[in-house]
Amino acid sequence: MDYKLWIDGQWVDSDGGQRMPIENPATGEKIAEVVDASRADVNRAVGAAHQAFYDGRWSKLTPGERSLAIWKLADLLDARKEEFARLESENTGKPYQFVSLGGDLPFSVDNLRFFASAARDTHGYTAGEYAKGYTSMYRREPVGVVGQITPWNYPLLMAIWKIGPALAAGCTIVLKPAPGTPLTTLLLAELFAEAGIPDGVVNIVTGGNETGQALVEHPDVRLVSLTGSTGTGKKIMRTAADTLKRVHLELGGKAPFLVFDDMDVEALAGVAAFTSTVNTGQDCTAATRVYVESSRANHATEAIVEAMRAVKVGSPYEDGVQMGPLISGVQRERVQGFVDRAKASGATILTGGIVPSGRDKGYYFEPTVIVDADQKAEVIQSEIFGPVLTINTFKSEEEAVRLANDVNYGLAASVWTRDIGRAMRVSSQLEFGTVWINDHIPLTSETPHGGFKQSGFGKDLSAEAVSDYKITKHVMIKNG
Ligand code: NAD
Repeated sequence: MDYKLWIDGQWVDSDGGQRMPIENPATGEKIAEVVDASRADVNRAVGAAHQAFYDGRWSKLTPGERSLAIWKLADLLDARKEEFARLESENTGKPYQFVSLGGDLPFSVDNLRFFASAARDTHGYTAGEYAKGYTSMYRREPVGVVGQITPWNYPLLMAIWKIGPALAAGCTIVLKPAPGTPLTTLLLAELFAEAGIPDGVVNIVTGGNETGQALVEHPDVRLVSLTGSTGTGKKIMRTAADTLKRVHLELGGKAPFLVFDDMDVEALAGVAAFTSTVNTGQDCTAATRVYVESSRANHATEAIVEAMRAVKVGSPYEDGVQMGPLISGVQRERVQGFVDRAKASGATILTGGIVPSGRDKGYYFEPTVIVDADQKAEVIQSEIFGPVLTINTFKSEEEAVRLANDVNYGLAASVWTRDIGRAMRVSSQLEFGTVWINDHIPLTSETPHGGFKQSGFGKDLSAEAVSDYKITKHVMIKNG
């Protein structure tokens, strides 16, 4: 299947862009071709979004009208969820069951329903007399045209996390999906008109990093929202400085999983294995660093290794499959490189670290457990984005907090203890945007998701996400 660009409510040919192949990571076979959009294409898309913003076809609708359209979009997505799930699975290698039942599709629909409701929220609107003879009003207005750039790990879900709050706020959008995984975002374009979202309000330009760069440079784009790596976030922030546009950055993570000795470590092993191999470890909140109180370390390590070995690796439609392939050959080499260097520097690979036998097609990698890695080693400090878990130990609560915080990232963490006082003390000291107590990974539409430190700033999900797409105006009226 060959795709075009979605601009101003139509499929259009590229102006000078090349074409890019899209492959299925479970087989390595080409499944589609899309456009690598040129700067001229980006300019055309921003022009359409700019026109759509300033003529008010979306921004001047009442919140109630916008809400209805977003709700309808959710209904349309829900009605075609199997089709979206199949395509997402084909484009990313994710197990179909994971995308369709428990994961990306139901959550995307729920996110949109939440943002439909949040569009009508009046929180924060105030009016009052702060100087004698004057009335002041705060208006929360949409920031304008927004550029949105998504990663490949949850292509549809990340698009929804960006489109939903921006639409709720009244913005118009140019969205650039990750180069290898644009198919479900393009399919979404089929739903906009029927949902009642006017032409030009959401535009989709496919392409690589240069397409993204052109979007970030465009002077008519008022805010850029990226979900991607920390390195890309830094580049985008630098580029955005030239036009002083706002940036909203959801970046990498390196989540700690802190287990205190009052827990039944064996019972936790399955959770550690699930949350480190979820989406083949290509999840910014995946548990990647297990720290266990030293008295329980041996039991915990044995149980986690056993649980990791039990994770069923396979292609999207295999029975009972829990973990699919990595996204690409490049990503597999990257993961393999981290494991090999860890081994060379003295760490021990207790299980995994190799391509599973018989899986020569596609980009599979075994769930991997590494011990004896130094806290300063890259395998602990850097985001690997593969099914790789390190296990280390701590002797005190203070040490647990110090080790957990001792990375540049700050996206998500979990604390495992039955002691409520300790849970509260530790969670308040952890420098992470989400801290789970006695669980790891669940998210809800209502609650904010976003980073501390070099995991970025700005929130996805929740009313805060909608607020991030608004700007405050003070209107002061002289009374009489
Ligand atoms: P990436 O940074 O390589 O690319 C992300 C997007 O940015 C892609 O669309 C890419 O084309 C674009 N891009 C790259 N360079 C650019 C530039 N100079 N200007 C404009 N756009 C540019 O990330 P990825 O490899 O696609 O995704 C994985 C990363 O995303 C991981 O680091 C992961 O932790 C992060 N992530 C974070 C969250 C979160 O919520 N914090 C969620 C999912 C993924």
